[in-house]
Order: sequence, then C-alpha cells, then structure tokens
Amino acid sequence: GVEIFRPMRELRSVLHQGMVGMSAAQGIYRILDDAPLVADAPPASLPQALAPTIAFEGVRFRYPGTRRTVHEALDFTAAAGERIGLVGSSGAGKSSIVRLLLRFYDPDAGTVRIGGRDLRQLSFAQIRSMISVVNQDTFLFHGTIEDNIRMGRPDATHADIEAAAQAANIHDFVAALPQGYATVVGEKGIKLSGGQRQRVAIARALLRNTPILVLDEALSAVDAENEAVIQEALDRLMRGRTTLILAHRLSSVIDCDRILVLDGGRVAESGRHEMLMRRGGVYAALMAEQVNAQPAETIDVLPARAG
Ligand code: ATP
Repeated sequence: GVEIFRPMRELRSVLHQGMVGMSAAQGIYRILDDAPLVADAPPASLPQALAPTIAFEGVRFRYPGTRRTVHEALDFTAAAGERIGLVGSSGAGKSSIVRLLLRFYDPDAGTVRIGGRDLRQLSFAQIRSMISVVNQDTFLFHGTIEDNIRMGRPDATHADIEAAAQAANIHDFVAALPQGYATVVGEKGIKLSGGQRQRVAIARALLRNTPILVLDEALSAVDAENEAVIQEALDRLMRGRTTLILAHRLSSVIDCDRILVLDGGRVAESGRHEMLMRRGGVYAALMAEQVNAQPAETIDVLPARAG
C-alpha cells in the first residue's frame, strides 16, 4: 500500500514514479509544500477514451508568487504516438511543461489540452491516469522487488510483473538473485544501481500502460554499458505511446520525431535533429556547447593514433 507519512522529498518522488493517476496520488499531492493551488474538477463524462494528443495553446505561465514568466506564449501539439524532444538551457521551462500537463498548475493564459479537452474540465484522476513519468532518480520503497514493480498496477499478477520485468530488461538480474522477486530493496534491503532502479521504473510504467509517457532525462545517470540495455527497454516502453522526452543531453533526443527548442518562453525552433543542425540556430548552438563542455575522457570517438 502507499504510505502517506513520508518525508516530502520522497513523496514528491513517488509522484514521479508512475504513481500519478492512482487514487492515493491525489491525497499525497495536496500535502506537498509546493502543492498547487489548483482545484480538482469533477470527472468529465467521457463516452470513449481520450486520444493521447497534447496541445499547448498560447500558454503563459509564471509560478505563483514569483516574478519571472517561465512561458510567454507556448504553442505546440503532439500527435498520438509522436515522440517529442524538449530541449533548452537550464531554466528554459522543460519541467514546467510537465507540471502543467499533469495540472499541478494552471496557465495564466492559454489552454493545455489532452485529447482536445481543456485540462480544467477533467479531474486529476482522469488526467493522471493517462500519463506515466519515468525520471532519473527512481524511488524504491522498502519492500520486495515484486511489490516495487507492482506499484505500477496494484492488481497485477506475478506473471504480469515478470513479463514487465522481461520487457524492461531487469528480469535476468532479478531471477539471478538468491531470493528472486522476493528480494527486499530500499532503505534496509539491497541497493540497486542507478541503471537497475531505472529499469524497475520502466517495468512499473509498462505495467501502468498509459498512452502518454514523459521521460525525464532518462539516461543521465547511467554508464555506457547499461545505456544500451536501458535504451532498448525505453524503446519498448515508448512504442505506440505519445512521448515527451525532457533532455539535457541532446543525444537522447536525436531520434525524436520532432524536437522543440525552448528559448525566451517560447518554442524558438522545432524540427528533426538534422534540420535543426542545418538551421544553425539555438539548437545547433546548444549542441556545440555540449560537445565543447564534454570532458575528453567521455568522448567516444578519438582520432586514431598514428603508428
Ligand atoms: P532544468 O534543465 O534546469 O531542469 P527546466 O528547463 O526544466 O530546467 P524548469 O524546471 O521548468 O526549467 O524551471 C523554469 C523556471 O521556473 C526556472 O527559472 C526555475 O527556477 C523556476 N521554477 C521551477 N520550479 C519552480 C517552483 N516550484 N517555484 C518557483 N519557481 C520555479
């Protein structure tokens, strides 16, 4: 079950584990210290499931009680199944887009829609049941690996959990442990590596099976060897889902259908990687900055040495 009385930091991280949308999440949500002043709406009657499309229309947003406008006029759409990369320098407003999409806040002007519906006309539960967030610091509670994965869908059977773990490339690791899926992890249990925790998060999200996915800097904490295994699991997770990828490292958005470059509170540029590179604008500059900032030992391809 979900424990309500945890430190704030952990509660916040629970929200980002694919818990959003589950009934308990709303209770947790209201007690966060930066909890929104947004009131829930009664559930809309939805004759059929909403299409997993996203639209930001003229969105202006500033955090309550602050002076700086984060988004001046944000306009973009994501079609069903589209893979969208969000890039921009630190503070450009990438994470704020996700907070608006989850309706942690309302925009000061403009509209955020899912499936054509203004989020203000949907209940928190309706919104969050459509979205899973996989982020870099996965929260594992003290309990078995099985229960940690089951968090994605409380009524999942053992077979469901094993199938999700297979698809997330974590099954072989778990099966090789003396206690297997009954191994206790978290505070006093065995410690999983960043890459292993991330794959648990992917398994949770696979179980949750929402049509919209947010990957928050999904590969940042991972070494190169783990990276291929995780990328494969993420590719399975993204298949058929409308996905927003929030990236600091631009390499994680190169394959996106479309990359949105945030600058000055707007979508300054959008397009595929090659197109944006040719354009020689903000994206190309960010890319150049990143390549220059890279310490030499992390650059994969060094010129072959003569002799
Ligand atoms: P980063 O790449 O550093 O994660 P980002 O593009 O995701 O940045 P946001 O986290 O969306 O940027 O933040 C946009 C701006 O809003 C920043 O100036 C940030 O300091 C501010 N901000 C973020 N969260 C809050 C908050 N809860 N209250 C007030 N201001 C906030």
